[in-house]
Amino acid sequence: MHPGWRLDVAVQTPAHSALGSLLSYASTVPMSPGTLVRLPLGRREVLGVVWACAERTTDDDTRELKAVAGALDALPPLSESWRDLVSFAARYYQRSLGEVALAALPPQLRELSSQQLARRLKRRAAAPQGEAALPPHPVPPEGAGLAQLGPGGAQADVALPARLDPPRGAGLAQPGPGGHVPAVEIEPDAALPVDLSAEQTAALARFEAGNGPFLLFGSTGSGKTEVYLRAVAALLARDDAAQALIMVPEINLTPQLEARVRDRFEARFGAGAVVSLHSGMTNPQRLASWLAAHAGQARIVLGTRMAVFASMPSLKLIVVDEEHDPSYKQQEGARYSARDLAVWRGQRECAKVILGSATPSLESWHHSRPAESDDPGGRYVRLSMPGRIGDGALPTVRGVDMSLQPRKTVLSGALLEAIGQRIARGEQSIVFLNRRGYAPVLACADCGWKSECPYCSAYRVFHKIDRTLRCHHCGFTERVPRACPACGNPDIAPVGRGTERLEEHLAELFEAVKRPDGSAVRIARIDADSTRKQGALAQRLAEVHSGEVDVLVGTQMIAKGHDFRRVTLVAAVNPDGALFSSDFRAPERLFSLLMQSAGRAGRDASYLATRGSTAEMWIQTHHGGHPLFQALRRHDYPAFARQQLDERRAAGMPPFAFQALVRADARTQEAAQEFLHAANTAAEALSHAAQVARYPAVPLAIQRVANVERAQMLVESASRIALQRFLADWQPLLHALRREPVGKGVIRWLIDVDPHAI
Ligand code: ADP
Ligand code: ZN
Ligand code: ZN
Repeated sequence: MHPGWRLDVAVQTPAHSALGSLLSYASTVPMSPGTLVRLPLGRREVLGVVWACAERTTDDDTRELKAVAGALDALPPLSESWRDLVSFAARYYQRSLGEVALAALPPQLRELSSQQLARRLKRRAAAPQGEAALPPHPVPPEGAGLAQLGPGGAQADVALPARLDPPRGAGLAQPGPGGHVPAVEIEPDAALPVDLSAEQTAALARFEAGNGPFLLFGSTGSGKTEVYLRAVAALLARDDAAQALIMVPEINLTPQLEARVRDRFEARFGAGAVVSLHSGMTNPQRLASWLAAHAGQARIVLGTRMAVFASMPSLKLIVVDEEHDPSYKQQEGARYSARDLAVWRGQRECAKVILGSATPSLESWHHSRPAESDDPGGRYVRLSMPGRIGDGALPTVRGVDMSLQPRKTVLSGALLEAIGQRIARGEQSIVFLNRRGYAPVLACADCGWKSECPYCSAYRVFHKIDRTLRCHHCGFTERVPRACPACGNPDIAPVGRGTERLEEHLAELFEAVKRPDGSAVRIARIDADSTRKQGALAQRLAEVHSGEVDVLVGTQMIAKGHDFRRVTLVAAVNPDGALFSSDFRAPERLFSLLMQSAGRAGRDASYLATRGSTAEMWIQTHHGGHPLFQALRRHDYPAFARQQLDERRAAGMPPFAFQALVRADARTQEAAQEFLHAANTAAEALSHAAQVARYPAVPLAIQRVANVERAQMLVESASRIALQRFLADWQPLLHALRREPVGKGVIRWLIDVDPHAI
């Protein structure tokens, strides 16, 4: 009798089971790696991905293996390159293969039986839009070398890369399939609405002629989106199987973009050509998008960070819009950077990658060089588009020295006057304050009571609209007490200011002011609170676009991406907080947020010209001389980047060093720190310990959340390889420690590689 086959399968194991664990199952038939299977695990039946398949010999394996319950064989197997991406991400971010693999699949896939899935696929194929007529699935057959795949075949993969790229030669500079090098000439396309600017044309020509990765460094309003869309259009037109992945930070924030992509491509490539992938979708929607991408039917996947794992058999182009945006970093589970994985994936799959931003991350900037330079140092080709479409000028930046203002001034007289002028001319203003709620603290002047959260080391925020105190960390919410809970004083008062209070303040200030037609001034607010209801954000934004709002108050939600046409003034009323943060990335984030905010003003040069108006960005600050504001005033990102990179180089910080955090959560701070001390001691013996600096365990900035004490320890190395090897060796020791007495009090621990906030 044939002894059958052994499958090594990636399944979702508890987050901290041993790294890279694959479970073995028996099968009576061989299966290609990448096949999705259902299998018994404990008392449940779960979904798994076959990673390797080997013929069993009668004597090599005496273990009894459980049999797989069935294969979802209506679905083509996941490709080798997809599995490589997952293995790389698991290894690099120090998580288990199964965890990363399963998290990368649409959740609903876990619930479907083989029959249900087959029915669903049949229905899709029978759907209109001629989908059934599409070419067969283009994944190359992988059954060929099946029997040779030894045990752990998946683990014997390439050595850790020095950088986040796959090993040289993994397809770096090859032209697309068929050896066809695309012509540099860009076909004029009658279906496309506008003539490109000279800068856009030049950027596209460089893009077509090179291999990248590219860093599209373009001012706000320079027309970066148009460049992405043209690059995608050219690709889809010349290769009728090719797929493109367009990643954006938060899709919900920019409904405009999704509409633009659909408009542009659905007419030409069919209604199913564009699919979205983001967490705002229902599970059935996500599954449908995923299946369309996996089958090669969706030509464009537009998604958030999770889309970096989309299975796209003919992926040829990846766009990462606003590549600096912090939301590309996943903050739970495998803490991956979707931007970095996109670059890795692009090189692995010979897909060109464009990272775009007006304020690139300092990492990407550091790694880039101008397209015309032959400096071999940078690995990204930098395409610059400094001008705005229509020769529009970037807004004039005006600083207001708040130390010269009367105490407690919220909005300076000059700023109010400027906003008033906008109202009188029928133009729009944006007032930006990155703090939601009415006031960050409620306090009693008599006894000093403050609205602390009982469960966190943080204050609860006062929300006036429903008279609640809400903790923004654990969610604990209570009605505002009638009197001070400590001393009974009825006069408890808000301290500080959030967007809700700012909106109220503006409403009072402009109450007596009239618009040109004699009607009242309209003030609106956009933040996480005002847009909680489904559709609320889209509606608010539509009101702004159609001119129904005069002054828009909001958090960073209004700073990003929006193509407002009538906004001629943007004001940041209190940006100073981030200047002196202990987080070394705070200035970088602040600078990009302010540049992005400024970018919302004066986007339509002809609108300004016909009204004789100019665009302005106002900054109210106590530190007008700070180099950050100086650079902002000149819209000089390169100067800001140079100064920051000099500081980072001198201090040996990223991108000149590589970091990871180990975090421990426990009931007490001592227990969390003791675990990290023990981890530190255990690390001494590791072979790469000498190349890795280990810092003492410290409490997190917000030390306690939901009654859990949090501590972290930073490790750092000038060598990414050394750090990676160190972490890989350290990980099992941490698992072991967790089972020892010192790990008893620990609720969870995790490793965060290339952490964002330190
Ligand atoms: P960015 O992403 O660089 O901030 P967008 O791509 O949103 O800029 O472009 C800004 C505005 O200019 C958009 O309204 C866009 O439709 C328009 N636009 C882009 N390229 C052109 C062009 N070549 N001619 C005219 N308008 C353009
Ligand atoms: Zn009191
Ligand atoms: Zn709390």
